[in-house]
Amino acid sequence: MFKKILIVDNDIQFNTTLKEKLEHSHQVNVTSIKDLDANIENLLEYELYIVRLDDTTDDIIKELTNKDKFVILVTQFDNKEIREKILAYHVSDYVVTNSPSSVDFVYKIVQRIQSNAQKTILTVDDSKLVLTQMAILLSSQNIHYVQCSNGEEAWQYLQSTNSKKIDLVITDYEMPIMNGYDLVKNIRTRFSFEELPVLVVSGSEDTFMISRFLKVGANDYITKPFINEEFMGRINNALLITEMFNKIKSMAMTDHLTGIHNRVYFYEAGVKILENANRAKQESAIAMIDIDNFKSVNDTYGHEAGDKALIHVANTIKRALRRSDVLVRFGGEEFVILLPNCPHKQALQVMQKVCDMVAKSPCHIDNDTDLRITISIGVTSIIKDVDEMLETADKYMYEAKQSGKNRVVSQDKL
Ligand code: GH3
Ligand code: MG
Ligand code: MG
Ligand code: MG
Repeated sequence: MFKKILIVDNDIQFNTTLKEKLEHSHQVNVTSIKDLDANIENLLEYELYIVRLDDTTDDIIKELTNKDKFVILVTQFDNKEIREKILAYHVSDYVVTNSPSSVDFVYKIVQRIQSNAQKTILTVDDSKLVLTQMAILLSSQNIHYVQCSNGEEAWQYLQSTNSKKIDLVITDYEMPIMNGYDLVKNIRTRFSFEELPVLVVSGSEDTFMISRFLKVGANDYITKPFINEEFMGRINNALLITEMFNKIKSMAMTDHLTGIHNRVYFYEAGVKILENANRAKQESAIAMIDIDNFKSVNDTYGHEAGDKALIHVANTIKRALRRSDVLVRFGGEEFVILLPNCPHKQALQVMQKVCDMVAKSPCHIDNDTDLRITISIGVTSIIKDVDEMLETADKYMYEAKQSGKNRVVSQDKL
């Protein structure tokens, strides 16, 4: 996160609005000055600079970019000459301040540069020159990069367990040992289109080649020599699409009320976790949990209180579990826990702890009301397929209800 930003702009209104917007939502320290004659103690102590381009700021922009500072330029002019001048500086970006949305544009760029700090791009090219050119561009955007000189090296890197997590691959076509086409083909055997986007940058103008690349799973294609702005624009788009996809995916797998995972996640990720544990010959357990007499909570205190109780129960259960255990809200007032690599006896102990913790921790509804809530739990460790396990756990949960609630039932006693 940026801590200190400097704005140098003689347009007072723009300057002040931007400062307020940045400070309000980023909690950064923003210093804004009208021009460089102003007395600022140490000009180089800032991390990001937003500077209006004019004759007086020319030298300072050069100095800042030479020192690898992040610089966003603003200008009210929009012509070829200015654009070429700006691109020669290697700044992060520029905004033409000729519309009411200009402040928002600058703000979005700051946000993007900030979030780029989490991103790593794998660049693959047999030309050192191209790799260096891409490195300069990516650094100006705060994006980390890894360099490989052919497809084989890149493929090994992606498969290695101690590699960094890669957000995007940018690859050349013609390279020794393994070319870009085979690299994309290999990548798609293991990573989906949304998981790991691939951008092809190639000197080949053969349009048939472009469609071949897209067919085999490349997300986008740029011909060399490329214009820096287009190159960065396409990278930003690819990163944005993956980010949005991941956000939507995570929303689809999260229960909106309690914030824990939902049933979709259980079938998508939980089942894989269980299968991996089975393959490694590790014993695992599944528990089915249902809140006791929950209807009466709603009937007596209202639906809102019922919602608070659901959140309380989810949080209490979570506190009793290991990090590797998977807790999901399976339906209305039902939860499922998957305990991978957990012998049956231990699973029963954990579930007894869960049951006791819920029963002991009062659920605060309002200043006058603290509810006592209990749950019934059915546990099974007999490994079959996941639906059969759920059915068995549900059967034991039903037995727990029949025999008095607030207890754990399984094939064995604790
Ligand atoms: P038992 O001990 O046998 O489980 O009794 P119960 O009252 O808990 O069981 P029942 O299945 O009759 O009632 C479940 C209740 O859970 C009914 C439903 O209104 C409530 N419920 C389900 N989802 C939600 C929710 O998201 N919020 C609230 N407030 N209540 C919910
Ligand atoms: Mg090449
Ligand atoms: Mg129920
Ligand atoms: Mg119930």
